[in-house]
Amino acid sequence: MKAVVVDALNEFSVQEVSLDPPKAGEVMVDIKATGVCRSDLSIINGKIPLELPAVIGHEGAGIIKEVGTGVEHLQVGDHVVLSFIPNCGHCFYCERGQANLCSSKDQAYGFMLDGTTRVKRGNEDLRVMTQLGCMAERCIAPAISCIKIDEEIPLASAALVGCGVMTGVGAVMNTAQVEAGSTVAVFGCGGIGLSIVQGARIAGARQVIAIDTLDTKLEMAQKFGATHTVKGEQAQQFILELTEQRGADYCFEAVGIGALMQAAEAATRPGGTCTVVGVGGLEDQFVLNPFTLPIFGKSILGSMYGGCNPKRDFPRLLDFYREGKLDLDGMITNTYSIDQAPQAFADLEAGVNARGVILYD
Ligand SMILES: [Zn+2]
Ligand SMILES: [Zn+2]
Repeated sequence: MKAVVVDALNEFSVQEVSLDPPKAGEVMVDIKATGVCRSDLSIINGKIPLELPAVIGHEGAGIIKEVGTGVEHLQVGDHVVLSFIPNCGHCFYCERGQANLCSSKDQAYGFMLDGTTRVKRGNEDLRVMTQLGCMAERCIAPAISCIKIDEEIPLASAALVGCGVMTGVGAVMNTAQVEAGSTVAVFGCGGIGLSIVQGARIAGARQVIAIDTLDTKLEMAQKFGATHTVKGEQAQQFILELTEQRGADYCFEAVGIGALMQAAEAATRPGGTCTVVGVGGLEDQFVLNPFTLPIFGKSILGSMYGGCNPKRDFPRLLDFYREGKLDLDGMITNTYSIDQAPQAFADLEAGVNARGVILYD
């Protein structure tokens, strides 16, 4: 089968690999759609460290092809969305309702949960991203990473819920808990920022200000519910003018740049909430002032995977989709075959797509 393999930093290609059958607690998934996400690119360019060679792909949906022993909640033929965090249900975090931080993944970084891999290139073991490696025609996944969905939902649209859309909408609903009637500013309108715009609209925000450097992204943001759009440099002044110099009730940073987080914090009103969603570099900085932080009483929050519980929140988002509140189809700007993966990443870097999605026959 074909998979997108990263061999060294900035070296990746579509290659022929093989899969071992699923072990206990695992399933084989026939992948039907894989979203092309900035985190995949971060594995390619080393921003997110992962020992190589490895198969990337962590935002996917497909159909169960084979079920390992001990798997009770899934059957062959089930349609599933993959969660890039396994959901063990009994670790410290799962027991406290923070499944997005489930620690089951930590002891097996780059491998399946038992510390081994199912992907081979000849005799060589390949690592996988987030226990999935679903930028491939098939993958082995922990059963606890698979959320069963209704068969009538198109799998290409459903796949987006596995990372970008969950991260964005979840940051609004779970992390910041945006209130109806509020003013929301979104710094950065890539796939996650556009999902934050959608989440803010669904939450009933009165004003949704989208900020980006690209006009194409601002046009997309408008389509997804932004009431105002503004070019990067003018954001601060624009937000202050719109809010009688207070700042926005909720600001979101969705790129992963320290300076932009700083700008989002500065544009948050006293008593408001600034939520950092973008993942920045390890050496980057975001400085908080010890005088103004308590004096202005702002809340600064980090949002991992939209603070989601995949079992609860994937079906919830797909309900929004079915009710016409959440536009998933419109997020898919371009589709690609797996052989076109290099083009899909070039388009991601050029900011062409709300989301690019790889489809399989
Ligand atoms: Zn992602
Ligand atoms: Zn857990």
